Amino acid sequence: MSKLIATRAIRGANKLVARAEKELDAALKTHCPDKKVEFPNTGYFLPISYGMLGMEITKVAQLKELLQEAKKLLHPVPDEKVWVPYLGHTLDCGMATLFADEIIEAIKYIDKPPYVVAENCPEDGNFWLGAADDIIMRKRGIEFVDGTAPGFAACVGSCPSTEVAVKIARELQEKNLYVFMSASSSASGGNGLKSMADQLREAKVQMGWETRLVPFGSDVTATIHALGFATRAALAFGGVKPGDFGRVLKYNKMRIFAFALAFGEVDDETHAQAAGAINYGFPAISERDIGQILPTGVCTYEHVVSPVKPEDMVQKAIEVRGLKIQIHKIPIPVSYGPAFEGERIRGEDTYAEMGGNKTPAFEFVTIKDPKEITDGKTEVIGPELADLKPGTQIPIGIVAEVAGREMQEDFEPVLERRLHNFINEAQGVFHMGQRDINWIRISKETKEKGFTLAHIGTIIHAQFHTEFGSIVDKVQVKIYTKEADVLKWRDVAKKAYHKRDERVGSMTDESTDTYYSCLLCQSFAPTHVCVVSPERTGLCGSYNWFTCKASFQINPRGPNQPVPKGDTIDAVKGQWKGVNDFIYQTSRKALSCMSAYSILSDPMTSCGCFECIAAVLPLANGVMTVNREFAGMTPSGMKFSTLAGTVGGGQQIPGFVGHSKRYVISKKFILAEGGLQRMVWMPKVLKEEIRELFNKRAEEIGVPKLLDMIADETVATTEEEVVAYLTKTGHPALTMPPLMG
Ligand code: SF4
Ligand code: ZN
Repeated sequence: MSKLIATRAIRGANKLVARAEKELDAALKTHCPDKKVEFPNTGYFLPISYGMLGMEITKVAQLKELLQEAKKLLHPVPDEKVWVPYLGHTLDCGMATLFADEIIEAIKYIDKPPYVVAENCPEDGNFWLGAADDIIMRKRGIEFVDGTAPGFAACVGSCPSTEVAVKIARELQEKNLYVFMSASSSASGGNGLKSMADQLREAKVQMGWETRLVPFGSDVTATIHALGFATRAALAFGGVKPGDFGRVLKYNKMRIFAFALAFGEVDDETHAQAAGAINYGFPAISERDIGQILPTGVCTYEHVVSPVKPEDMVQKAIEVRGLKIQIHKIPIPVSYGPAFEGERIRGEDTYAEMGGNKTPAFEFVTIKDPKEITDGKTEVIGPELADLKPGTQIPIGIVAEVAGREMQEDFEPVLERRLHNFINEAQGVFHMGQRDINWIRISKETKEKGFTLAHIGTIIHAQFHTEFGSIVDKVQVKIYTKEADVLKWRDVAKKAYHKRDERVGSMTDESTDTYYSCLLCQSFAPTHVCVVSPERTGLCGSYNWFTCKASFQINPRGPNQPVPKGDTIDAVKGQWKGVNDFIYQTSRKALSCMSAYSILSDPMTSCGCFECIAAVLPLANGVMTVNREFAGMTPSGMKFSTLAGTVGGGQQIPGFVGHSKRYVISKKFILAEGGLQRMVWMPKVLKEEIRELFNKRAEEIGVPKLLDMIADETVATTEEEVVAYLTKTGHPALTMPPLMG
């Protein structure tokens, strides 16, 4: 092993422990010993000292004990006399470094932390995010467990150029890895200190947890937030007890595929960080020649590999860490993977926009005779991106035709609902919604790179084969961009949507012992569970009971599982023992019960794809609901977008519930609160859209004129105005028992 690395790492550790001591002394002079120390919004203690030593640090004076632990592990900087040819001393010093880092970072939070407390980096100004809080930890940590993210790359220092930084970030994103950035260094040939995150900012790359490019801090000690994250993952998801350092390290070695990439000048302190990371089994790859530690032992393969050319570093790291990534490389000119799912595209960065209430749009999967399909063919019928000026809004109709011996009509909506993720995962392509409320934006940058509308077909073709290989043999895609075509084919699609919705027909919830789950939206709302019963469709409106059943048939280990109802707990609220047990397990124990037919007591969680959101209007003694297409103000004081932001994300919020349009006319619509009679406000478009079915239902409940008694935006946009209208029309809600007990 390289003596140089050991010497520098041990020297770095000594320097950092000395720095920690100095800063702690200073902090103790200006603060009382009981002054609170914590990372903001965390219910845990400081993660490294808690995980490794079981120390429950909450006060500044306790950091002294941690400093003692660090000192115990320090070794003198080796010279010819004390040199030992194995890794032990370096590893001890690495651990001492982590303790010192944690002390220094904790002190920063007492005074004025150089961090913004946010999930994503603000577009201007300071972008350093510091320690992950509990919400981020829960949402992101789980991805390391379920494999959505295989691990992370801790990138320290600055790349040779901004372009290289962007390229490396994209490469890591494409492999679904998180990119944790810290520590400024001088780049090769550059002067002044910089970090990779500074370079990404220069290139206007979106950073934050959502894009998986996470800048922790410019100080070398901020590297601790990467290892803090890893430590907490072991405690939270590995069932490791605090203080059981052996298992914390082992869990990380076995389960978290992480490694460090060191760019630019590597100083003593950075060497010390690498030594700390090796304890976790995370190897380091350096651009500079810092020597090598090749024999395997702690890490799966090598420990330190250098020098490696920047463009080869990601590949090398993956090799060294033994990470198997299966990428089905889709032939499109931009990066592709789940990391790009959360990406937003701002209006001014948009090259072309389709749907989203601005132009007619739809997406549709339909089964065809194999003879009619040429596999892999995509036709764009109408203008392509190249024919458009930047910032244009155009109609779009995406028709994916599929064939396969095992393919059935029931499978169409299952495939169709996945178009959302598939299209969204292309870098610089934003997709939202489904059916005829879809919304697509393509960024200018992506267009520049050569992306065309036809590539949407390329993506669908590749992903249908990959994900639905067992039922799909052939896929061809037609993309319509002329308004007349879009309208014509949208009608065809709408008939099919309607037919699918009708498929459940007269089936009732009581007529089956089994409901189905949909966990598809857990990719962004980890605790969200849709429970789909014959009388309550998934809240996106795309999955009804039959769709879920079909999906389960296609993939028995997929997102739609049968849920045995079990004993009925409350028939009016819609609570069943089996459903509650299922929810408890699949929400990762975040929820213990759910009432399928209630808006007030334990309502269903809402992810973000709901067609409508219902909200209680206490003054009116009823509820309102607003559909996604309606952009105006509602009597709840919030527009759809604000409501969606408040209610979405997989939480259970009494008084609000996301639902499909279809659910409004279900016999089980908020049954617990008295049913459809409680509806007091709806946008006019929604009224018109469901008028026929609504009237049928109103007839059944004995209030045939109900729809016209319900206020809309033409007569009321405040609760007071709603009440006035209800009084005028004699709406039944006013004489119903009080909604809020
Ligand atoms: Fe599935 Fe519900 Fe998401 Fe629709 S909203 S895809 S039913 S989890
Ligand atoms: Zn959803």
